[in-house]
Amino acid sequence: MKYICKICGKEGDGKRCVECGSEEFRILSLIGLKLIEEKSRITVLLGKSKRIFGGAVVNRLLGIKDIGDGEFEVQIDENVNSIVLIRGLNGKNKIKINGISLSPGEKIEVKDGDTLEVSDFQFHLEYNWYEK
Ligand SMILES: [Zn+2]
Repeated sequence: MKYICKICGKEGDGKRCVECGSEEFRILSLIGLKLIEEKSRITVLLGKSKRIFGGAVVNRLLGIKDIGDGEFEVQIDENVNSIVLIRGLNGKNKIKINGISLSPGEKIEVKDGDTLEVSDFQFHLEYNWYEK
């Protein structure tokens, strides 16, 4: 979760804004990760219900056939700060995050603005927040 001041837009602790003193915050929950394909701008959302990249849906969306049942999994960890982890699966393609290969079973934290490559596709990553 994160708290955004309703008056000035600064992120805060949900009690009192250090910037403007407001006590009103929007509460946002992290619900997943947006993957924006760089050429087509097609966006794939992975989150609570659908968290595995690969398989028929993604293949059809991107018009590619060589992506298997699962290339990687998105995991949301809200224990301390809200973070998104990507865990490599035993898929057909090499996955690279910011140019570094991800092995099956390996887990890595990703951040807004990171890039993810799978097959010949490059994605821009963004956290997907939901306001209650
Ligand atoms: Zn404020």
